[in-house]
Amino acid sequence: AKAAGRSCWCFFSFELHQQTIERQSLINDLRQALPHNELFLVYQPIVEMQDGRIRKFEALLRWRHPRRGMITPDIFIPIAEESGLISEIGDYVFKESIRQLADWRKRFGEHLIMSINISPYQLSAPDKHMSDWFEFLHAQGVPGAAVSLEITENMLMHHTEVVSNQLLAFRDEGINVALDDFGTGYSALSYLNRLDIDFIKIDRSFVSELAEERMEKDLCEAIITMAHKLKLKVIAEGIETPAQAAILAKFGCDLGQGYLYAKPLLTEGAEALLRAQDTT
Ligand code: C2E
Ligand code: CA
Ligand code: CA
Ligand code: CA
Repeated sequence: AKAAGRSCWCFFSFELHQQTIERQSLINDLRQALPHNELFLVYQPIVEMQDGRIRKFEALLRWRHPRRGMITPDIFIPIAEESGLISEIGDYVFKESIRQLADWRKRFGEHLIMSINISPYQLSAPDKHMSDWFEFLHAQGVPGAAVSLEITENMLMHHTEVVSNQLLAFRDEGINVALDDFGTGYSALSYLNRLDIDFIKIDRSFVSELAEERMEKDLCEAIITMAHKLKLKVIAEGIETPAQAAILAKFGCDLGQGYLYAKPLLTEGAEALLRAQDTT
């Protein structure tokens, strides 16, 4: 029994050791990812629930690793945050997606909006890159109102003076703020008004159960009703079936996002959708 215990211990410690090496090597690789052009953005349409037309795109980051293949953001964003690389990566995401938006607004219409995920780490300390974002917007001819920043609920929990001041500075430029993954964290409703949030995004976990579970139905309806009372718009994420879309539309949900409409797309794929919708 003792021998077995020991071999167990060795096994776990070996695994842990491997994980640490693994992690360190990913951090090193991530440092090279931007200069080596391994990071790129895909864009997922967000549509009006009423008529299905594309109103926004959410920019989502991808990493094409030279040896490991595609690595999902759920893996590398936390690594970027802990290693401090998030500031530079976040700056790339902002500028690249705004450049794309500027082009699309010229070619497909000024109604288009870009939604960009912001890590709490980018807001919780002064970020040297953020200070030239407003100038960058002006240079690209993109008004603040054409930009949404998605922040997660938990960030507001730990929100400090710095975070709320930063958010206010964005608001002064007309930039919208969306509360991401709504319902999964410690929802503190008072923050919604205090920080002048514009959109809430109902988390996929609620939407996916929508057609089967009474509780999720009631929850979604309650969230939408409450949001509208507070003059917030609602985006439902992770819509995969017509049944889910129908229920959300019935509750008055404003915007929808999910595989039912489109997966995250490369530039060409997104443009094909925009062109198709132009002719209808
Ligand atoms: P998120 O902000 O909640 O993004 C939505 C995620 O749901 C995306 O995963 C998207 O591909 C996925 N999704 C969209 N529609 C559906 C659907 O109908 N069904 C299912 N099953 N999934 C759907 P993705 O692209 O893997 O991103 C994961 C997370 O990584 C994001 O969650 C976001 O928190 C983070 N992330 C992605 N890009 C960035 C970025 O540029 N900066 C920061 N800070 N975080 C990012
Ligand atoms: Ca998001
Ligand atoms: Ca989300
Ligand atoms: Ca999510």
